[in-house]
Order: sequence, then structure tokens, then C-alpha cells
Amino acid sequence: MTKVINIGNEAKIGDGSFSIIGGPCAVENYAQMEKVGCFLNSLNIKFLRGGAFKPRTSPNSFQGLGFEGFKILKEIKEKYDFKVVSEVMDPRDVEKASEYIDIIQIGSRNMQNYVLLKEIGKIEKPVLLKRGMSSTIKEWIMAAEYIKKEGNENIILCERGIRTFEDYTRNTLDLVSVPIIKSKTDYPILVDPSHGTGRKELILPATKAALAIGADGVIIEVHPEPSKALSDGFQSLDFSQFKSLFNEIKKINELV
Ligand code: PEP
Ligand code: MN
Repeated sequence: MTKVINIGNEAKIGDGSFSIIGGPCAVENYAQMEKVGCFLNSLNIKFLRGGAFKPRTSPNSFQGLGFEGFKILKEIKEKYDFKVVSEVMDPRDVEKASEYIDIIQIGSRNMQNYVLLKEIGKIEKPVLLKRGMSSTIKEWIMAAEYIKKEGNENIILCERGIRTFEDYTRNTLDLVSVPIIKSKTDYPILVDPSHGTGRKELILPATKAALAIGADGVIIEVHPEPSKALSDGFQSLDFSQFKSLFNEIKKINELV
């Protein structure tokens, strides 16, 4: 049985519904987040993503706005009543971050940062634990165990693809991890088709597959102007692409 994670005010993940989390890779400024917030709210989407601390491959790439970004997220969250997901990389930021956001994301690069896992284990805030890009399912489950052992049982996993020899896609989206996780644990599991494929045209089919294989939802990057995004614009949907994905998934979901 999947454990239902209560995010607050009736918002739940793992309750049998297919949760859709949308938002840009990175929080860039207030105007950008206001546009995204207004758009997602028009679709009645309850979960907003946006990175304020960005673990970039190059130190010269945009690193995120830090706590300034959290402040923007909080303003948008309060305006539209969203639940907000955002990454924390430094164990020293965990406590302060929980004043701003509803779900703390642990990124792929930090899945085995045990100091961070233990620190997040000490609070009650829901956590989205992404799969390490080179991690086995067993290692991923063990990483979750680090959090749980400290007392925090509000854990949601996220399959975001793993690195293989295939380079057509950014990562290889290992969707069968979903039923494996379901059979071995009681954590809800989301799929990230944006990082999992790195290709806009694959996000809709990957989302359909995530729904069919039993995932509890998806987390998808969307940006008002993907070509101008400061991070991951190549894989970010624009509003019209996101809207058609949303409508298609809604249609399928109503049938099942
Ligand atoms: C992200 O969600 O923007 C991100 C950096 O994801 P990952 O840690 O899966 O690469
Ligand atoms: Mn990204």
C-alpha cells in the first residue's frame, strides 16, 4: 500500500490521483514566476516547482537565486495557494528552507549526500528524493532509509532517468523502477520526464507511460519563453505545449 503524503490543506501525493507538478527549472525573477503561477493556476494545478539552488554541471552556469528565489516562490505560493517543491543542496539550509517551501527536493547529484539526508530526516517536511543518475534502485531505497531512520517518513521518490550509453536522450528513463518501488516499498513515486528524456517531444509519451505504469504523478518543466530560460530551456515546454499535455493526460485519466 502506498503511503499517502499529506502536503497540507488537502493536497496529497500518493492518494491514488495522478499529481502534476509544473514549473521552470530555475526561479529567475518575480515576473517569470508570476507568469508561470498564473498559467498553472488557470489549469487548476496545485503543485509548483522552481529551483532556487541549482546544481549545475558547470560552475559558470546560472547557479540560482538562493534564498531570494525562495522568497519569490513563497509570494507566488501565497498568491495562488500552491504547494511548492524546490531543491536544497546544503544541510545548513534545510531548516530555513522549510519556512518557504512545502516539499524539499533532493536532487540526483545529492542522492547519496548522507549529511543532507540525515538533516532532512530530522524535520517533518515532505521530501522528494530523486534517483541518483548512476544509482541502482537498491541504493535509492537505502538513501530513503537514511531519511526515515532519523524520523521523517514523508518521503516521495522521483524517477528522473539514469545515465547509460544511450545518448539520444539526456538520460534513460527507467520506468520499470515504478512497479519495482511499488512492490518493495510504500513510498509514492513520481516520474520526471523532463530530465528523464531531455527532449520536449518525448515528454508527453513518457508522461502517458508513467501514468500507465502506476506512477503517482509527474514533475514537468515549463517556462514562459523556453528559448530564453537560464537553465534547461531545451527541455522545457511552453505554455501551449504544457496545456495540451495536461488536457491529454486529463482525458486519459478520466477514462481509467
Ligand atoms: C531539477 O529538478 O531541476 C534537477 C536539477 O533535477 P535532477 O536533480 O534530477 O537532475
Ligand atoms: Mn532542470
